[in-house]
Amino acid sequence: MANINRVVILGGGTAGWLSAALLAKMLGKQLSITLVESTDIGTVGVGEATIPPIVAFNNALGIDEKTLIQRTGATIKLGIQFENWGRQGDSYMHAFGHLGKALPFCDFHHLFHHAKEQGLGHSLWDYSLNFQAAKAGHFAPLRHLPNTQLAGTEHAYHFDASLYAQLLRERAEHFGVQRIDAKVDKVEQSDNGDVQALVLQSGERVEGDLFIDCSGQRGLLIAQTLGVGFEDWSHWLPCDRAIAVQSHHGDDKDPLPYTRSIAHDSGWQWQIPLQHRVGNGLVYCSRYLDDDQAKAQLLANLPGEALHEPRVIPFRTGARRQQWHKNVVAIGLSSGFLEPLESTSIHLIQTAVIRLLKHFPHQGIAPASVRAFNRLFSTEMAQIRDFIILHYALNQRQDSRFWRYCADMELPPSLSERIAQFQQSGQVHRYQDELFAEVAWQQVLIGQNCWPQQHHPLAEQLSNEQLDELLQSLRTLINQAVQNMPSHQQFIQRNLS
Ligand SMILES: Cc1cc2nc3c(=O)[nH]c(=O)nc-3n(C[C@H](O)[C@H](O)[C@H](O)COP(=O)(O)OP(=O)(O)OC[C@H]3O[C@@H](n4cnc5c(N)ncnc54)[C@H](O)[C@@H]3O)c2cc1C
Repeated sequence: MANINRVVILGGGTAGWLSAALLAKMLGKQLSITLVESTDIGTVGVGEATIPPIVAFNNALGIDEKTLIQRTGATIKLGIQFENWGRQGDSYMHAFGHLGKALPFCDFHHLFHHAKEQGLGHSLWDYSLNFQAAKAGHFAPLRHLPNTQLAGTEHAYHFDASLYAQLLRERAEHFGVQRIDAKVDKVEQSDNGDVQALVLQSGERVEGDLFIDCSGQRGLLIAQTLGVGFEDWSHWLPCDRAIAVQSHHGDDKDPLPYTRSIAHDSGWQWQIPLQHRVGNGLVYCSRYLDDDQAKAQLLANLPGEALHEPRVIPFRTGARRQQWHKNVVAIGLSSGFLEPLESTSIHLIQTAVIRLLKHFPHQGIAPASVRAFNRLFSTEMAQIRDFIILHYALNQRQDSRFWRYCADMELPPSLSERIAQFQQSGQVHRYQDELFAEVAWQQVLIGQNCWPQQHHPLAEQLSNEQLDELLQSLRTLINQAVQNMPSHQQFIQRNLS
C-alpha cells in the first residue's frame, strides 16, 4: 500500500473548505493539501442554519463565537419552530437542550404525562429553558440553570453561508492549503481505477494520493468518474426542489433566536434570521406544485422586501451507496442529501471529515477501514432520514394531496418501530452515537400530537403534591433564568463591539 501524502479536495463550498480547514489544522504538517474550485461554477449558496455540535467544531478550528458573529452576520439559534405541521394552526418547537428534570431511569416527559393525567401539567415546553428563552427573545450561554445542577442553554447559529465559507477558507489557507481557481475538465484514472489527477481547463494536472469529492450534487469524482450509485429516498421525502430568496427583516424587528419552519400545502418554508437579512426558502414537491406557484407562495410569505429574484434549486434526496470508494471520499452534497428541515447537512460534513481524520489512511488505504467508514456513514444517514420523515409522517392535515400522501406512505421499518414503541410505552430508544437525542424525538412526537398511551411507572413515585411542587419550581427557575438573560439583540451587539 502506498503512503498517502497528497490530498486533493475538489470543490470550494462549505464542504470543501470545512474539510480543508480541519484536515490542514490537524494534519497540515504531514500532508500537502490542494483545493480546486471554480468560481465560474459557484456554490449552492444556501445552508445557513446549523445545530449545536457546530459550536465545538468551530472551536476546534479556532473560530470563536465573537469572530463568527462579527464576520458572518451570525445570530443565535435555540431551536426550530414548526408551524402547521401537525394540524393547521399548530405550533411547537424542537428546542435544543434539555426538558425539565429527569428522575433516575425515567425521562422527564413521563413525569409530565403523569402530571397531565392528574390535571397538573401545563405545556411540555414550559420546562424547556431554550424554548422559553427563544420566545422571550433572550439569550445567554449558560452551562447550568442557575442554582441547580440542571443543564443550561444549548445553541447553534444562523449565518451567511458564503461569509462562513470565506472564514473557513482563511483558516485553511493559514494552515497551508493551496487553492486553485479553475474548472476541472477531465479526471485521469490509473489502471486500478483510482483517481490519479484532475485535469484543468488549462491542461494543468493536479495529482493526488487521496481525493475528496466536494463538487456538490454532481459528484464529479464519486459518481461521474467512479460510478458509485445513489439510494433514492424520495418516496419517503418527496420534496425535490427549493426556491430561495433573501429578504429584509420585517418592521425593523430584532432577529429571532430560532428558525421558523412553516408548512404550506405542498411543502414548507424556512425563515432563517441573520443580523442583516432573513434567509427564506420554500421546499416543495414538484408533483404537486410548479416553480411559478412556488415562487408566488414564497414571495407572498416573506417577513420583509425580497432582496433579489428567487432562485430554484432542484435536489434529490438520498445517499451514496458508498461514501468512500477507491481513493475518493465524498463529503457534502456529493455524498447525498437530506432536505434542510432539521439543518443537518453542515453537521454531516463535520462528522464525515472527523471520521476521515480518525480513519486517515497515512500508510495506505485499508479495505477494512473503508468498510467501517461506509457503514458509519450509512447508519448516520438512515437515522437522520428517519427523524426527518417523522415530521411528515405524523401530519394530520387532510387539506392537500401532498400531506395525504405523507400521512399514508409506508414508512421505513426502523421508523415505524420507533413510533409504535413510543405510542405504546412512551419510550424512545437512542442508538449509540445517534445525532438526535431522545428529547428531540419526544418534542416532535408530542408536538405533532402523538401522545403515548402510558408513562413509565417510575413517574408515579412522587405524590401529586410533590409533583406539583417540582413542576412549579422548574417553571420558576426557568422563568427567572430567562428574565436575567440579556436580549438576543443585546447579546449580538456585545459581540460586535
Ligand atoms: C435548499 C437547500 C437548503 C439548505 N439549507 C441548509 C441548512 O439550513 N443547513 C445546513 O446545514 N445545510 C443546508 N443545506 C445543505 C448545504 O447547503 C450544503 O450541505 C453545503 O452548502 C455544502 O455544499 P457542497 O460544498 O457540498 O456543494 P456546493 O456548495 O455545490 O459546492 C460545490 C463546489 O464544487 C465546485 N465544482 C464543481 N464542479 C467543479 C469542476 N468541474 N471544477 C472545479 N470546481 C468544481 C464548485 O465550484 C463549488 O465550489 C441546504 C441545501 C439546499 C439544497
